[in-house]
Formats: sequence, C-alpha cells, structure tokens
Amino acid sequence: MRMSQVVAPTLREDPAEAEIVSHKLMLRGGYIRKLAAGVYTFLPLGFRVLNKVASIIRQEMDRAGAQEVLMPTLLPAELWQETGRWGIYGKELFRIKDRHDREFCLGPTHEEIITDLVRTSLRSYKQLPVNLYQIQTKFRDEIRPRFGLMRGREFMMKDAYSFHASAESLDKEYRNMRETYCRIFDRMGLKYRVVEADSGLIGGGYSQEFMVLAETGEEEIFHCPSCSYSASRESAGIGEYKMSRVAGRGPLVEEVHTPKVRTVEEVSAFLRIQPSQLIKTLIYETERGAVAALVRGDHAINEAKLKKVAGVEDLRLAEAAVIKKVTGAPVGFAGPVGLKGVRIIADNAVPFIEDGASGANKEDCHLVHIAYGRDYRAELTGDIRYAARADKCPRCERGKFESSRGIEVGHIFKLGTKYSSKMNCVYLDENNREQAMIMGCYGIGVGRTAAAAIEQNNDKDGIVWPAPLAPFAAAIIPANINEKEQADAAKKLYQELRTAGVDVLFDDREDRMGVKLKDIDLIGIPLKIIIGKALKEGKVEIKDRKTGETILKEISSVRDIRGLIG
Ligand code: ATP
Ligand code: MG
Repeated sequence: MRMSQVVAPTLREDPAEAEIVSHKLMLRGGYIRKLAAGVYTFLPLGFRVLNKVASIIRQEMDRAGAQEVLMPTLLPAELWQETGRWGIYGKELFRIKDRHDREFCLGPTHEEIITDLVRTSLRSYKQLPVNLYQIQTKFRDEIRPRFGLMRGREFMMKDAYSFHASAESLDKEYRNMRETYCRIFDRMGLKYRVVEADSGLIGGGYSQEFMVLAETGEEEIFHCPSCSYSASRESAGIGEYKMSRVAGRGPLVEEVHTPKVRTVEEVSAFLRIQPSQLIKTLIYETERGAVAALVRGDHAINEAKLKKVAGVEDLRLAEAAVIKKVTGAPVGFAGPVGLKGVRIIADNAVPFIEDGASGANKEDCHLVHIAYGRDYRAELTGDIRYAARADKCPRCERGKFESSRGIEVGHIFKLGTKYSSKMNCVYLDENNREQAMIMGCYGIGVGRTAAAAIEQNNDKDGIVWPAPLAPFAAAIIPANINEKEQADAAKKLYQELRTAGVDVLFDDREDRMGVKLKDIDLIGIPLKIIIGKALKEGKVEIKDRKTGETILKEISSVRDIRGLIG
C-alpha cells in the first residue's frame, strides 16, 4: 500500500478521551475511529491488524480440528428463554423487537444458538465429539465501555463450542484448546499467564483465563512462586489457616460510644486499633433469608465465594430498612455479638482475630475486646474474601501470593450439561439411550488481543508491533521521493517485495524524512527500509523498530526480508 493513499489520519496529540496507551496509540496512529461509546470503526491499518489476529486464531483452530461456522447476530428470545438467561442476562443484553413485536437480542455469546444447532443436527455418539467455532461481532451493553477496543459494546470475538459423549472426551478437548490457545498467543509473541478463573454468567464448571501481562491490565492475578498455581482475583483460593485459635482470655467486652463513626478507617482510627482487628459485618439478603457475612476490616468480601459457601444463587446487600430490622441499628453499626435471626457466615480469618472490635448493633456504638467462641460464633466459616498479596497458596500451602496485572484475552470453560440439559440437547449412546451432551466453550477477544499487544509493546514513539500482528511487515521510505534515483529504487523494491508476498508499505509522501519516520514509528512498523545516501553504493539502511538497530544491506538482497523479521 502507498502511504500517500492510506486513510490513516494520525494525530500529533494524545486524544483527551483515551486513558490507556493502546487506546491512545490506536487513535493517534489512525487505526480506529470512535462512532459511539464502545463502538469503533476499523480504518485500513486497524482492520489489517484485526485480520492478522483473526487469521492466526483461525489457522490454529483449524489445525486443532475445530470447524468454522457463522451463526447469526440477530437472535430470537425463545432460545434464551429456554435456558432462563433471557431473564438473568439483564441490561448487558441488547434487546430489540421486530415489526411483529417479537423479541430478539443481539448476540453477546452463543451457547443457546449452538446448542440448538447441534440438537437438531447430531443424534448419535458416533458423531461426537465436535468443536464448532466462529469469528464474529458480539454485542454487550457494558456498564462502562472504555479503553477503546478493550471493553467495547460491539466487538469481535472468536467463540468455540465443543460437544461430547463423555467427561473424558471433554477433558481431552479442553486440554487441546488450552494448548491451542498457548500456540495462538505464542505465535503472536505475547507474554501471558493461564489462570484459574470464575465462570461468571456463562457458568458451568471449571474455567481458565488467558491473561496478557500488562501494568494497565484491569485484572489482578495472583501467582504462587513455589508451585504453578495462578488465579484471577475473582477466583483465587486462600490456603488454610493453621494458627492455633486464640481462646479469648483477654479483657471482657466493652461498649464504646462512637458517634457517627462508621467506616473501617474511621472506626479503627477512633478506637486506635488496626483495621485487621475489626470484624466487618455485612448484611445480605438471599433466597434463603438474611445472612450476616463477617470479614476482617482489612479484607474484602468476594460475593461469588460467599454465594458458594452460603449455598445461595441470589445474593445482594440488604437495604437500610432490612439492616435496621436485623441488627436493630442503622447502617454502619452491625456486629456479630448478640445477632439473632440471621445465619452468620465468617471468613476463615475471622476466628483468629485477637482482641477484636465490631459494631454493637446499636446506633453510635461499637464493642471492643471481643473474641470468637466466647462472645460470638458463626454458623459456617469458609473462604469468602478476595485473596491479597502474601496470602498463602491454596494448592501447595507453602508459597505466598505475588500479584501482577493482566488483560483477559481468552477464556476456556468446561460447561458440562448446563445448557444441554435445559435445552434437551441429547445423543443416543451405544445402548440407544438418550444422554445430555457434555459441553465446553472457548472464547478469544480479537480486538482486545490487538489492544493488549500494544499495551505490552510500545515506547515513547508509539506502537512496537510484534511482527506477526503488524499491519505491514516493513515500510520502504525514500529519503526524498523527488530524487528520481531514490524514487525509482523504492518503487522497484516495493514491487519486488509485493510479488514475494511481503506486506509492505511504501511511504511515497513528499514530506520531510523526520515527519515520515515519526509516523511510521507511531504506527509501529517493525522494519524501516530507508533509501537514502547509501543508494550510491547500492545499499539501503534497515532499521529495527524494537531495538533501534540499523544495518546496511545491498538493495538487491532485501528480498529475503522474511529472514530479517524472523
Ligand atoms: P470481562 O470479564 O472482561 O467482561 P467476560 O468474562 O465477560 O470478560 P467472556 O464472556 O469469557 O468475557 O468472553 C470471551 C472473551 O471476549 C474475553 O476473554 C475477552 O477477551 C473478550 N471480551 C469480552 N467482553 C469484551 C468487551 N466488552 N470488549 C472486547 N472484548 C471482550
Ligand atoms: Mg464481561
């Protein structure tokens, strides 16, 4: 492509709306253009990158034995009603009505659709397993669309779904997909970590996320330095507490007047105690009645874990009126001592709090010197909080968590029969008996992967694409296009490289050299082939975007550029 023709409106300044570097650079480099919140047009450079990401994914999925299909985006409500997700998905689902008032949505994910396809297409165990995938636009009305392609409302996803006649077969395909994802992200030259994950709305059993490591990542990842355990903040378990329990031999409980002192910071400052001595007491409403959840003041409740420990599906923080009814006090003064008529669920760390403090279930009052076992008990104890740095690894029970940040680019799930049983997606086994198919599903955010690659690969001058994702492998830049000799040599090389199948950009603009180099660096082309003074000796300068290294090469030998870019 000729640079003078490429529609890539580059910007000198960082756009005000962009907070993270990939978003800034994609806008500045003329890769994307915003149409509405979370909705972007891909300009030629952006679309080339998107296609490079997609084509690596497609090659590896095909190689892994998956078959590509294309499902619709416009999806009838009935299928979503069959699994109950029409109700559960909430506002993230874009819902629309047709002219006959029939309800539809724009697909955010396709479990229902693929399950419907398979139940009406496959009958026998002999036809299983299958893995079907597509690369397609998804729609999710995210609460906070942000960071450009990272969290869009319309975005490209590769989603794959596998169907099996046995759990072993699913295990095998799950491993196949995990290895395939590793190959995909390895080929893209990305640094990533595979972490244990929470299954969220898609649900089912076991799942893992692929996290591209980057400081700006939205997700915190915990990693054990002694064993291989890695997990997202949402799902990281915490090793057992093995301290001996304090028996509560200290001073007896005392009530302290604490007017208008409510938050952990306020209370611990007022009482001159550590936040870790405070027993934070949160009242939740669930389908099984109210629950009081206890965690240490310096810890944060993980509601997904709490749901599991409490054995409930529906969990939300209680309204002020319910809190008043349960504790007898306004919000901010709840505590476990003397609390009746609710299930008390304590985090594993709570019984070990020495000389604790909490709300007194009385307005403007707290209790100090409280001890587990002596002054209060929980009906259940369990892991109901988010892990934190230095927590003990739950797998080896030796290492202490280190944390890093990452961007979730892929997610693989073992779904089991969650969808197939609700939708009657069955096969006939060897004995001609109907069995629910066992499913897996596997997603990659295509645009998000491109953005994550930039987060990991950039410098003060702009993007530094890993070669496999760059819109062009190289740019030919004549120092002065108006000098016939340089222009002719550049054109000839451009034709030769194109004929050899290299994605090459020809910077045929009349601008000054400095301007051209700045633009080419901003958009992040891995190699610059500069045709300047050395042409007199039949040579060109080849400059590596990443290392800044420059070599002089015979112009006649530049055709094997593939060797140069590895
Ligand atoms: P997140 O936790 O970031 O919202 P998710 O768990 O909702 O992601 P999945 O439903 O597993 O995501 O979707 C599969 C992949 O699609 C994700 O791993 C991610 O790469 C990508 N993805 C999800 N939501 C978006 C979005 N709003 N914009 C861009 N890519 C997305
Ligand atoms: Mg999401």
